[in-house]
Amino acid sequence: MDQEKRYDVIIVGGGPGGLCAGMYSARARRKTVCLEKYLPGGQIAVTGEVEDYPGFEHISGAELGMKFTEHAKKFGLEIEMDEVLEVYCEGEDRVARCASGAIYRAKAMIVSTGGSPTKLGVAGELEYSGKGVSYCAICDGAFFRDKVIAVVGGGDAAVEEGAFLTKFGSRVYLIHRRDQLRAQKIIQKRAFDNPKMEFIWDTVVESVNGDDRNVTDLSLRNVKTGERRKLDVGALFVYVGFRPNTGIFREPIKVDAGGYIITDSRMETSIPGIFACGDVRSQLVRQVTNAVGDGTTAAVAAEKYIETLEDRHANRV
Ligand code: NAP
Repeated sequence: MDQEKRYDVIIVGGGPGGLCAGMYSARARRKTVCLEKYLPGGQIAVTGEVEDYPGFEHISGAELGMKFTEHAKKFGLEIEMDEVLEVYCEGEDRVARCASGAIYRAKAMIVSTGGSPTKLGVAGELEYSGKGVSYCAICDGAFFRDKVIAVVGGGDAAVEEGAFLTKFGSRVYLIHRRDQLRAQKIIQKRAFDNPKMEFIWDTVVESVNGDDRNVTDLSLRNVKTGERRKLDVGALFVYVGFRPNTGIFREPIKVDAGGYIITDSRMETSIPGIFACGDVRSQLVRQVTNAVGDGTTAAVAAEKYIETLEDRHANRV
């Protein structure tokens, strides 16, 4: 039988935005639960080094994620490891249905489900996923010690994680479809200065090739000259962007052209009482700093939303 649990605020997703929202909500003495399908920390927990979070010149993503978690728990945030399958409204309740069968009900909900890595969509990618194709340098980098590693993409993630992979690989090729990176200049400079990194410009991966067990090489095509060639590698790390995780809504919710949730300045979505924060939200930057800012605003706005509900009920009595 389904288990029903009642809270003031449900937070869906335990990344930096969700944990910060949870910290503020619990600190405001609202009974708050954060539902996270893996370990809390979100994307930051699988990021090598963080050096742009104020107050921490250098900290590993895993450690920062742990600090966020401990801090939020200290103020009373409850964290449950469960996968949210669906969220919906039932009267004034905002409801989350979980894979365990549990049903969580609350007066307000904050969605901070982040995003998932975009697939490259080429032949061999899925076949060799886990056999040399990876989307997480911190999880899998150490398997490719002294191997030649390729990274595809030109954004912050590709360039930063490419540099991180030079700790393991004998050489790291960064393959980008243009001749200019999208990554922040400081991240670019560090990569250009790294003697183990080599850039392959104007080039796309056409297929990932291998034997029975592992990736052995990539088929590449230069998009300007049309020239094709093979590149021998032991691994391919794919960092070609992010897709927001918005598949849990039963009712339609307003999103932008990229599928990111549109909120107002109080982080409220098009569904009253459901707020969004962090990478899943439509905005210019996707950094830990603005995820926690979003989380703060969402928690305070959710609190005000609940107060309005409570005032309305009190006036009726
Ligand atoms: P991103 O900024 O969207 O960059 C994706 C990269 O992949 C782009 O260079 C794009 O090329 C390339 N690309 C897209 N589709 C491709 C395809 N089919 N084949 C080949 N290349 C393809 O994504 P991201 O790097 O994952 O970053 C996501 C967000 O997280 C960004 O807002 C980023 O700033 C943030 N982030 C920040 C940090 C940090 O500050 N330290 C670290 C990681 C992520 P084009 O350039 O040609 O479009």
